[in-house]
Amino acid sequence: MNALFNNYSRRPISLVEGKGTIVKDSEGKSYLDFTSGIAVLCLGHSHPSLVKALQEQSEKIWHTSNLFESPGQVKLAESLVKDLHLDHAFFCNSGAEANEAAIKMARKHTGKHHIITFENSFHGRTFGAMSATGQEKIHKGFGPLVDQFTYLPFNDVKRLENSIDDSIAAIMLEVVQGEGGVNPITDEFAEAIQKICSENDIILIVDEVQTGIGRTGTRFAFEQTALKPDLVSMAKGLGGGFPFAGVLGTSKLYDTFSPGSHGTTYGGNPLGVAVSQAVIDTVFQDLFLEEVKEKGAYLVNKLNEVFSNEPVIVRGKGLLIGIDFGDVEVAPFVSKLEEAGLLVVSAGAHVLRLLPPLTVSYEEIDQAINILESVVLSQLVK
Ligand SMILES: *Cc1c(COP(=O)(O)O)cnc(C)c1O
Repeated sequence: MNALFNNYSRRPISLVEGKGTIVKDSEGKSYLDFTSGIAVLCLGHSHPSLVKALQEQSEKIWHTSNLFESPGQVKLAESLVKDLHLDHAFFCNSGAEANEAAIKMARKHTGKHHIITFENSFHGRTFGAMSATGQEKIHKGFGPLVDQFTYLPFNDVKRLENSIDDSIAAIMLEVVQGEGGVNPITDEFAEAIQKICSENDIILIVDEVQTGIGRTGTRFAFEQTALKPDLVSMAKGLGGGFPFAGVLGTSKLYDTFSPGSHGTTYGGNPLGVAVSQAVIDTVFQDLFLEEVKEKGAYLVNKLNEVFSNEPVIVRGKGLLIGIDFGDVEVAPFVSKLEEAGLLVVSAGAHVLRLLPPLTVSYEEIDQAINILESVVLSQLVK
């Protein structure tokens, strides 16, 4: 026991330094960090342009609140929506908070309350975001939840079609369910959702908190699907390690919030804006994104080779990759991999999730594969 509440099951190491993909613990041991702080450190640890952006901004001004003009927020919003069908941004501090804003906008815009989300989704821990999350273990003990969320099976077109009526304000989903086990949306399901939303004036909210900012090889994962969301929530990679989040939306939602209807004191904080601008200037480049795709494909191929004789399924998009071990519990793998110098995170009880920095090198991927092969394969074969 210590002076912290007991809401995390922490690994027994303390990371004190990092550069790129490599982190060091307090005992001086090095690891390949394939967690990226849960998909946050898209440019790895201590990326020089983020360090510079934060240092320079910290000497100018730390905080202004949204009482005043913010040209930095405007520029960042323009960079985020450039070449997309989206038009405006609202900045906040966490993924859950971004989803709260999206849910509030969808309800206010439509005047309806009912929102469809999916089983095994994850949208955050605040009341609205938790209620949107289709996982009982996240709800347990906290009820009553926010009313009017319905959880449907993911990728089930028939069930979705049968659940549509005129009470529905929004459909909310992840393109790849991250926490829920790295489950990508099928093409068929994406097409069905887009059609249903367009035909019934239903707001489409895509939660890109984990999949966004280059993680899947495009700026946002929805770009690889038929989905054309009205609202997109972002966090994690958006600040590259600085707590920062936001929602993007189309112009039809511009009048939904008026001054005073929604806000957050820290949202669009100058330090976060400066770091996020540096993230976006680096990640939203065709060459950079192309490399993420190539590295993701390389990693998936290697994993398929390693596990070719095992009942293991490798899936994901870009550098958001899940290794599904079926009935086998992955918790012992996480600690054995850590001992061998590779940090990974699970997604549910049976899936190992690989989330290297988008800047990971092929050499580091090969090293991680070697560790996975020697640690995990030997356990499976045993
Ligand atoms: C992590 C995550 C969230 C919650 O983000 P926080 O910053 O922890 O509030 C929401 N949605 C998805 C898809 C996530 O992966």
